[in-house]
Amino acid sequence: MPNGQKKEHRVTFPNGQQVTSLGQGTYQMGRRRQEEIKALRRGIDLGLTLIDTAEMYGTEELVGEAVRPCRDRVFIVSKVLPSHASYTGTKRACERSLQRLGTDYIDLYLLHWIGSYPFSETVRALAELQQEGKIRQWGMSNLDVDDMEHILSLPHGKDCAADQVLYNLCDRGIEYDLMSWSKQHTLPLMAYTPLGEGRLRNHPALQEIAHRHDATPTQVMLAWVMRTAGIIAIPKAGCVAHVEENARSLELILTDEDLGEIDKAFPPPTRKIRLAGW
Ligand code: NAP
Repeated sequence: MPNGQKKEHRVTFPNGQQVTSLGQGTYQMGRRRQEEIKALRRGIDLGLTLIDTAEMYGTEELVGEAVRPCRDRVFIVSKVLPSHASYTGTKRACERSLQRLGTDYIDLYLLHWIGSYPFSETVRALAELQQEGKIRQWGMSNLDVDDMEHILSLPHGKDCAADQVLYNLCDRGIEYDLMSWSKQHTLPLMAYTPLGEGRLRNHPALQEIAHRHDATPTQVMLAWVMRTAGIIAIPKAGCVAHVEENARSLELILTDEDLGEIDKAFPPPTRKIRLAGW
């Protein structure tokens, strides 16, 4: 890539753990299991050590198998379903996830999205799981600013370590307020569906920018998500070639001209847009 500068691509969690700002998603994995395990392992070797799973995805066993030879180098994120997020339900769900993952601890355990159990119950269970060493940190997913404020106001709430939210070129809502709120609270954001599920890469503006950098549109999309400090992109890639292509986005630095063209093609929000959650 012509732009020879190196960018520092590390994100630090509140407990001091650091990860590369490019991780690996696993939603809808399992159909090509061996190829996907190979892809995840190649990603780990390339430094993409954060792996995102959830009890809902049915990929915890696959992730467990992929990381078995290198568990201590990997940062596992998993999630409890809202329908299990009562006090006892959260604890039981975590035990089941640990078993499926074949590990003693989860690095970051999230509430997948808002359900009907009060946050206070879920957070009490998460805090206890953390004290017991079964999870290193806990956080939220699909929560907007007002709900994150609520979490922080609860007993132990200030231990919340991350929010995982939808963020890609077509879904820029978090730029209106959640991004600055997170920065102010030094709380990392994890950007899910950073490639718009793979649908955006034929856009002419992306192709043009990619061409200038001798890169690909996918790499432009990822570099764009990671341009802001404190954001971790977690694309899902089901084969080694895609993982290697995605990893090279860490070397791509977008110019002001690129960013201007992206804003023209994919305008930033000018008003509050509620997070589109699950
Ligand atoms: P995504 O990462 O935006 O897109 C995945 C798609 O992009 C797949 O079809 C993949 O195909 C394709 N792709 C990846 N790298 C590529 C490359 N270099 N070239 C061409 N195509 C490429 O979508 P996502 O899976 O929805 O989101 C990513 C992760 O975020 C999920 O896997 C999950 O871990 C997490 N997530 C969290 C939530 C939540 O509520 N917290 C919601 C959705 C997703 P191949 O498989 O063929 O590589």
